Amino acid sequence: MVACTAPGAGFDHEAIVVGGGQSGLATAFYLLRAGVDVLVLDDQPGPGGAWRHAWPSLTLFSTAGFSNLPGVPMPAHEGFPPARHVVDYLAMYERRYRIPVERPVRVGRVEALDGGGFRVHAAVPDLTWTCARVIGATGTWSAPFVPAYPGRFSGRQWHSANYPGPAPFAGRSVAVVGAANSGAQIAAELLEDPDVGEVTWYTRHAPRWMPDDVDGRVLFRRNRERFREIAAGRPDPGSDSRLGDIVVLPQVRRMRDAGRLTATPMFASLSQVGADHLIWCTGFRPALGPFRGLLGGAGGAGRRGADPHEPVPGLHLVGYGDRTGPGSATILGVGPYAKQTACAVAEAVRDPAH
Ligand code: FAD
Repeated sequence: MVACTAPGAGFDHEAIVVGGGQSGLATAFYLLRAGVDVLVLDDQPGPGGAWRHAWPSLTLFSTAGFSNLPGVPMPAHEGFPPARHVVDYLAMYERRYRIPVERPVRVGRVEALDGGGFRVHAAVPDLTWTCARVIGATGTWSAPFVPAYPGRFSGRQWHSANYPGPAPFAGRSVAVVGAANSGAQIAAELLEDPDVGEVTWYTRHAPRWMPDDVDGRVLFRRNRERFREIAAGRPDPGSDSRLGDIVVLPQVRRMRDAGRLTATPMFASLSQVGADHLIWCTGFRPALGPFRGLLGGAGGAGRRGADPHEPVPGLHLVGYGDRTGPGSATILGVGPYAKQTACAVAEAVRDPAH
């Protein structure tokens, strides 16, 4: 086990960010501006976070102008940008702000040190770092969620996290499960591909389409309002449930308006699903594995009633959607949370008695 030693304060770094996607980069941006000595550890071979693994046709549900991290805006792009455009943006962002990222480094666990601070253990390669504060920004992509259903499915199962596009489903029947954006987008893509066999879209409730003229901008505006209310100590006004769940992107709209993107009530047992393939579009969970020892158990919440942004003293979480605040898992929405976290960390490392 090789410890990386460096001068000053007894720790290798004042702060270590685990995860180099948009959440980690936005937080590092503010930490660097506050003069905090920070290192980002990321397990991917290159920049872009989970956007590197998006299915080929995935686009943003917001335009480039509504998908900016703090600092430099996302470069313009006609319509809804593809995931590739986001990867290029995050790569440029890292370079422009000289964000120190070590990759690929897979963090296995983070332990609290007696007397304060943390030791971050990388599983691959076999290295450790010490720091005064640690920030979890590991996202959700590496923790796809599949609900448990009785029965047995005889075909091949996939999750949206590893959906490769329509090619493998040529001539085959496909069941798509999930009533949110991924389910609608993947079902629409498969329905529109003439080579793919029968497609059945299973949902637990009728699809809640957003108004056709609404895209991510409306959601982000609402999230920003909610952030301001919560930050001011007032109750969260909640999401605008009248809005619906599904952004009606062009392909979704074509298949819906052609009467082909129609939902089938959920099966009670997997044995009832006769398709060749089943694609779970059932979301993700926060990938908090490295912090399990600190949080207590599987995805524990830390101290009861703890602050979701710092569930354990010195461990900060950024970018985990509902767990860390409305909009925190979106490109435009993560900024205020990143700034709030960086301010808390900068204050703490300046005044250790803090
Ligand atoms: P990630 O992008 O997942 O980055 C986390 C990084 O940490 C990754 O590189 C990961 O490999 C790494 N990591 C994880 N565990 C470890 C570990 N143990 N050690 C080291 N590194 C680790 N948001 C929008 O704003 N607009 C959209 O249109 C939009 N569309 C979406 C469509 C889909 C299908 C999904 C799933 C999400 C979408 N989002 C969208 C939400 C959000 O922007 C993305 O999920 C984004 O990837 C979240 O960024 P992040 O930095 O929090 O996490």
